[in-house]
Amino acid sequence: MEQMHIAHSEALYDRAKELMPGGVNSPVRAFQSVGGTPRFIQRAKDQYLYDEDGNVYIDYIGSWGPMILGHNPDIVLEAVRNQLENGLSYGAATALEVEMAELIHQIVPCVEMMRMVNSGTEAVMSAVRAARGFTGRDKIVKFEGCYHGHADAMLVKAGSGVMTAGIPDSSGVPKGCTADTLSAVYNDLDSVEQLFQQYPEEIACVIVEPVAANMGVVVPEKGFLQGIRQICDQYGALLILDEVITGFRLQLDGAVGHFGVTPDLVTYGKIIGGGMPVGAYGGRREIMQLVAPLGSVYQAGTLSGNPVAMRAGLTQLRYLQAHPEVYHQVGFLSHRLRSGLEDIIRRHHGNCTVNGIGSLSCLYFTPEPVRNYTDAKKADTARFREYFHFMLDEGNYFGPSQFEAIFVSNAHTLREIDKTLGDADAFFSAHS
Ligand code: PLP
Repeated sequence: MEQMHIAHSEALYDRAKELMPGGVNSPVRAFQSVGGTPRFIQRAKDQYLYDEDGNVYIDYIGSWGPMILGHNPDIVLEAVRNQLENGLSYGAATALEVEMAELIHQIVPCVEMMRMVNSGTEAVMSAVRAARGFTGRDKIVKFEGCYHGHADAMLVKAGSGVMTAGIPDSSGVPKGCTADTLSAVYNDLDSVEQLFQQYPEEIACVIVEPVAANMGVVVPEKGFLQGIRQICDQYGALLILDEVITGFRLQLDGAVGHFGVTPDLVTYGKIIGGGMPVGAYGGRREIMQLVAPLGSVYQAGTLSGNPVAMRAGLTQLRYLQAHPEVYHQVGFLSHRLRSGLEDIIRRHHGNCTVNGIGSLSCLYFTPEPVRNYTDAKKADTARFREYFHFMLDEGNYFGPSQFEAIFVSNAHTLREIDKTLGDADAFFSAHS
């Protein structure tokens, strides 16, 4: 294999490290769990990323989810260009925000009222605040291995079991901020029930990634989400589905439609911004009516509902609504990727497990089934590191961590999937 030329990335990384922690603006980009030099990306189009040294990669990250149509789709670019002529930000109400809210409500009717924010983190933080305000309760339940952004209350050490009070997973988070965050085990309803038995009248909400896509990809087992819904109803708690990744990705109406579970509140991000910084939270009218200025739950934002971001997001969402074949295509390509990987692993005794649903996939370097965080952590991250670098050098850009999802976009074709499978085959034939 010819050595990839990355001198420009290396030089930029050196400069970046002087000025930004780890040289990056979000930790995973620093390649900390795989080592080596992060690639500095100069431009992207369709299914490809181009770095500062002119190397081309098939992109399996898609900016961590927003780019379901691939990079820079012409329709989104044109819409953004048109909006630029009208101004970048007004800090006042716009028709675009109304259209966005109407579209989301039309696609996911249980989102009766909503608010636009600027990130998934903000969406989750605000939804949890609304749930606490509505119920008058403080405790929340999350699942080990699920990520809901970096608001203080969500940064809780993965500690399972009934007695686990939330221990901060980050310095700088006061114990008080996580003391009311309880952890349950994904795909284990008993662990949820136990927490409710311990605190029957204190839990405001359960928040869950309907497909856990931040510990690799863990699919909810039959009845898991429905079971959480029932437990919440039984104890008067709210259910928040964190659809920041799954929203408008699993299918047009996301996990709500796919699994047929109706949440009280839902959070969005990524796809609804079309590549611009957008998040949203919303749900039952009686809960959202508590949000300021109508009610006592305060939440605000200088750039919330930004017209350029709304225009990009609306254009992408409208395209998805008008082209249901996108979901068919990304599902078909991802299925081909997963079955191809399974076949390679079988032939080479690769000791790996492939998980996935729709356009989300993960190759775990463990032979055992992965149904929760404890299982995911059994993965051999040293082997993943070897695989990652081999694939990167061959021009396949995967998330630089064993615990990130593989995202396939509508711009990918069988040609890229088959090239990637060919490279994976070469890796496992040399390394099994
Ligand atoms: N919720 C989920 C499920 C996520 O995957 C993420 C980010 O990856 C977030 C929330 C936080 O979103 P953001 O990074 O936009 O703040």
